[in-house]
Amino acid sequence: MSVVAVANQKGGVGKTTTTVNLAAASAEAGRRTLVIDADAQANATSALGAQPQGAFLYDALLGQTQLQSCIVSTSWPGLDAVPSSMDLVAAEIELAAHSRREYVLRGALTEVAGSYDLVLIDCGPSLGLMTLNALAAADAAIAPVQCEYLALEGLSALLETIRRVQVHLNPGLHLLGVVATMYDGRTRLSQDVATQLKAHFSAMFDTIIPRSIRLSEAPSHQRPIIDYAPRSRGAEAYRELADELLNRLSDLPPSTLYRDGALDGVAR
Ligand code: ATP
Ligand code: MG
Repeated sequence: MSVVAVANQKGGVGKTTTTVNLAAASAEAGRRTLVIDADAQANATSALGAQPQGAFLYDALLGQTQLQSCIVSTSWPGLDAVPSSMDLVAAEIELAAHSRREYVLRGALTEVAGSYDLVLIDCGPSLGLMTLNALAAADAAIAPVQCEYLALEGLSALLETIRRVQVHLNPGLHLLGVVATMYDGRTRLSQDVATQLKAHFSAMFDTIIPRSIRLSEAPSHQRPIIDYAPRSRGAEAYRELADELLNRLSDLPPSTLYRDGALDGVAR
């Protein structure tokens, strides 16, 4: 099982869109895939048409239920999700006194280690405790960046956080790549940002996600883009990105996070 956190503390850059559509494309490619909605806004939960059955990520983090009992199916075959709820805001406070508070999600994920090939975690727009939990539980992080003015602003804070997590919480974390989103080839600005990103980050994904009305419409139909508009440019882009992601993951050293005994010393 590979665990990938989709993170950027800047809001509205395409984290959720990337999480749900990558996840669907991964499931289409035959990987058993799980989305963890780690954002209290619960956008991924609704975009995937996941119908919560009364147990949410919050309950699993607080030890009130097993992660397994929170898992629900989505509108896309072979893709499961752990739904989020507003309670997750409170989890940040309630977990604050927990001695291993950054490892709670990692502990919960060990339960499902044999059941999935890929777990994608949709982070909220902050570098708070939930995002730290996601990064501490992940083999890899990907950072969506919007092709807009000030796109690079804040990216250094994210990279610094990832570096700190690597030093203090999770030496196995790899920054797998930065993905340019909402690219509009007709504007000079989009072209400039994409060029700047390529110049700054060796870890840029080759696939660039175009700005597309279809991609913004799909969540209101509670379906991923490969279902809502399977032949659209957005669908093709996320299929390509999924290919790239799965290839990059297969080049990583084998994960040590979810092997037997890997949790020794990590409190549940
Ligand atoms: P937040 O920080 O609030 O969690 P986010 O980073 O998850 O936001 P999204 O919710 O994925 O960002 O996207 C923000 C908005 O932009 C949404 O309305 C989404 O539908 C739209 N959007 C995302 N990607 C694209 C795209 N490639 N083309 C057009 N619209 C897009
Ligand atoms: Mg989001």
